[in-house]
Amino acid sequence: ERKELHRLRREPTRTRDGHDIQLQANAESREDVAEAHALGATGIGLYRTEFLFLQRHELPDEEEQFRAYRDVVLGMSGRPVTIRTLDLGADKADRTGLALRDEPNPALGLRGVRLSMARTGLLDTQLRAALRASGYGPLRILVPMVTSREEIAAVRTRIKLLGRELRTQGYEIADYVPLGAMIEVPAAALALPGYIGKVDFLSIGTNDLVQYLLAADRNNEALVDLYTPLHPAVIRLLRDVIRLAHARGKSVAVCGEMAGDPAFTPLLLALGLTEFSLHPGTLLEVRRRIRECDLAGLKARAPSLMRARDRADIEAWLST
Ligand code: PEP
Ligand code: MG
Repeated sequence: ERKELHRLRREPTRTRDGHDIQLQANAESREDVAEAHALGATGIGLYRTEFLFLQRHELPDEEEQFRAYRDVVLGMSGRPVTIRTLDLGADKADRTGLALRDEPNPALGLRGVRLSMARTGLLDTQLRAALRASGYGPLRILVPMVTSREEIAAVRTRIKLLGRELRTQGYEIADYVPLGAMIEVPAAALALPGYIGKVDFLSIGTNDLVQYLLAADRNNEALVDLYTPLHPAVIRLLRDVIRLAHARGKSVAVCGEMAGDPAFTPLLLALGLTEFSLHPGTLLEVRRRIRECDLAGLKARAPSLMRARDRADIEAWLST
């Protein structure tokens, strides 16, 4: 069984009926990047930059961040790397003093892009570091916790400005660095038609999207039965986001834990997903599952999935 999985390192991620699916990796360390490369990930779909900021008192400066992002780009030797800007908030134990300490509702607080924009210099330093790393290979920038169009517009403006500044300072950076939004706040999913023209790609963060959509804390042990993507509201929203993105020619991935669970693979394929971003430790299992799937058959069964009324209906769909 382990041997058989190991053999899949060199096999394409292709459904039984011949459709190629992209498996990108979620990473936050050198080891993750090396493993992603070895397993044939098509890129890094989510590079969590938080680890650079945790367990220390001083913020990483531009130089330190640049070196970290450049190493990821070099480590993937030409496959695209998606750098997510900082997603810190009072929910994570940072000692830099960036996040507010005593928010009563950290998940609903100054988190992600909200924090990046509220702290002077934080976003610019990170964007400059990422833009400089774009001179070493394909790089995209992903923004977490987007709620509204204005946030994307603001980040876009900074990228343009900083890009110009870096070029006049003599740095060689990519001509264009794609900008993407995480879809993890329900409002960002529902308002997507109003700003999809402003983003180059999307990445659906089901960990938070499920939490906010179902009003169920992702870390609350008492809610484990409620906290699941197997809810008709989640399925519907996923379907709508994927459909709209594809209709507008934008790439869209799912990068929450859901993407790395082979039990959910047929469901995501039925919804039209063609890009998964997952922890390298789960990549081969999901590849194996995809290779067993018949995409046309799953898509033919999508309407019955959309008629599911509850978790039991969705589980029944998955088990047939
Ligand atoms: C998510 O919310 O699904 C996600 C990928 O981001 P994080 O788990 O880092 O919040
Ligand atoms: Mg998230």
